[in-house]
Amino acid sequence: NNTLEQLNYVSSFSQLPNVFYQQVTPTPLQQPKLVHANENIAALLNLDINELQRDEFIQLFSGNTLLNNMAPLAMKYTGHQFGVYNPALGDGRGLLLAQVKNDNGVIWDLHLKGAGKTPYSRQGDGRAVLRSSIREYLCSEAMHHLGIATTRALCLIDSEEPVWRERLETGAILVRVSESHIRFGHFEYLYHSNQHHLLPVLADAVIAQHYPHLVNEPEPYLALFKQVISTTATLIAQWQGVGFCHGVMNTDNMSILGQTFDYGPFAFLDSYQADYICNHSDYEGRYAFNRQADIALWNLSALGYALTPLISKQALNDALAEFEPQLISHYRQLMQSKLGLSEHQEQDGELIRRLFNLLAANQVDYTCFFRRLANTVGPEQMYDLFEDQRGFSEWFDTYTLRLSQDSMPASTRKLSMLSRNPKYILRNHLAQAAIEQAEQGNYNEIARLFALLQHPFDEQMEHHQYSLPPVKGAQQRPLSCSS
Ligand code: AMP
Ligand code: MG
Ligand code: MG
Repeated sequence: NNTLEQLNYVSSFSQLPNVFYQQVTPTPLQQPKLVHANENIAALLNLDINELQRDEFIQLFSGNTLLNNMAPLAMKYTGHQFGVYNPALGDGRGLLLAQVKNDNGVIWDLHLKGAGKTPYSRQGDGRAVLRSSIREYLCSEAMHHLGIATTRALCLIDSEEPVWRERLETGAILVRVSESHIRFGHFEYLYHSNQHHLLPVLADAVIAQHYPHLVNEPEPYLALFKQVISTTATLIAQWQGVGFCHGVMNTDNMSILGQTFDYGPFAFLDSYQADYICNHSDYEGRYAFNRQADIALWNLSALGYALTPLISKQALNDALAEFEPQLISHYRQLMQSKLGLSEHQEQDGELIRRLFNLLAANQVDYTCFFRRLANTVGPEQMYDLFEDQRGFSEWFDTYTLRLSQDSMPASTRKLSMLSRNPKYILRNHLAQAAIEQAEQGNYNEIARLFALLQHPFDEQMEHHQYSLPPVKGAQQRPLSCSS
């Protein structure tokens, strides 16, 4: 494995015409401190893990130094924010520091989030605060281990840099790692700024790097669009299955690879609430939990619109029509396996609807419910979760009957359900506790959560309290958009 200096730095994004980016330099963070580094990501990059301890590591990733040949850049993109087109977007508080090709030939972007102003910062200060950086650092790791596509992070750096939000906070940098930082908004930018001749240039670059098998398709651009539709459908089905609410599904936060991208005011459901809104600046509930599928389709339509110079409207609409059936089919399979069923039956939809109504009416914790269901033989074992015990017992009778008609042997069902229903998720109150400690200079809770969330399906009995819902009535801190 390599030292930082020996990594195979390549420049693929900067091969694009210069309307796609501007060269920038990071603004160093004052007195940077390493909070945590991800050894798995180091391994992914073929970076020797001893490198994570070197002073050069923190100097590089806090924006204090650059290595030879590094030419950091801020990407230009636009997008629809809360349904309104904004032409003035781009990397405003982040930059692409470098790209690394690993031994498997995969190119990884190393993006510094919070590295100071860029030409796209508008009125912003280009900084990210420790609080929101901790949330992204922990949640992206958690999502990966839940089996959900996501950007990753190499490390998290704290500092003494004062950053003003609603109160005085400290600046941090998250080193985000992904195969691509290209968003739907990159294509929207080209379309809406009348640079249509560059659409095939960008699409070709995405195909060549990420979907090389599409090159031989009769209509590669249409095939690319279909690919984005299907990866997005899978992603949203998984979010719904695990109870994840993204909170800011603007088109500039939609990854062309169908990854969970740009963690802001996200939240996992505690007690089940279909129309839960995690983003306190989302007054209309545009990004409510039960609207995420519709919004993803809306966002895909915005992408499709940007591709109209390349693909016929008929073909775009036909492709978009595939989104909902794909999502439903994926979601159905997911719920089926959460319930320990191996086949689909007509009446399963009704069984799930009845369950959701019960969970909502009784304010039952979504994650705990499914985890405990895996371990339950009779309804009485879960009566403590329900005020309406009779209602739950009736549902459980229907469920028991349904299980008896399914081909999954009872002996494997429990293990299968335990492997599909996580015990540990990044609940807001857990992230909050880690944040409060970190703001006092103690990063232990971050390390503990990080390790815990790498094994969300394991019992880890010594950490059982981390699986419990927040105490009812405990104050939830409001979360807003950019911080
Ligand atoms: P987000 O809400 O995080 O998706 O950000 C939307 C846009 O605002 C992006 O173009 C960001 O780069 C930009 N932005 C967010 N926060 C800041 C900040 N503190 N300074 C400069 N630009 C920012
Ligand atoms: Mg964003
Ligand atoms: Mg953001």
